[in-house]
Amino acid sequence: MAGKKGARWTKYTGVRKGACVLCGTPIAKKLVARRHRSCAPCISTKRRDAHRLDPRPRLVSQAKRRAKKLVIPFGLMPNLLVIPTHCPVLGKPLEVGVGNASEYSPSLDRINPARGYVHDNVRVISYRANRIRSDASVGELEAVLAYAKSLPRK
Ligand SMILES: [Zn+2]
Repeated sequence: MAGKKGARWTKYTGVRKGACVLCGTPIAKKLVARRHRSCAPCISTKRRDAHRLDPRPRLVSQAKRRAKKLVIPFGLMPNLLVIPTHCPVLGKPLEVGVGNASEYSPSLDRINPARGYVHDNVRVISYRANRIRSDASVGELEAVLAYAKSLPRK
């Protein structure tokens, strides 16, 4: 094996250079050049599993990007974020890593949108609850509720 003609082996893993350390399939040359040690499908599986296990790093990095775009404060640390088991607004269990962003994926709600993503200004609620609330004030939400209640029910 190791003496096989032309085979190059990485020092630490004993896996042939250019092969995925996880599944052994050859990796695209440009990925090898960028020092990737696993193939694209294995990388995305690994990322998905990591996200399912702990969605906080992704929530925080997405918030960082949004804060930059919206020019609002940012100061979140993944390990300080508390993700409840259920959406505190709708009471449904929060789902992580079920396909793409589902209705009950955890999402960060800014209590005061202008204060940005800082720890005493964010709560984790479902994506659905966040979308319904949007950036509405209490008065606006009450007006929407009154309107919804005034509509004839089928
Ligand atoms: Zn692989």
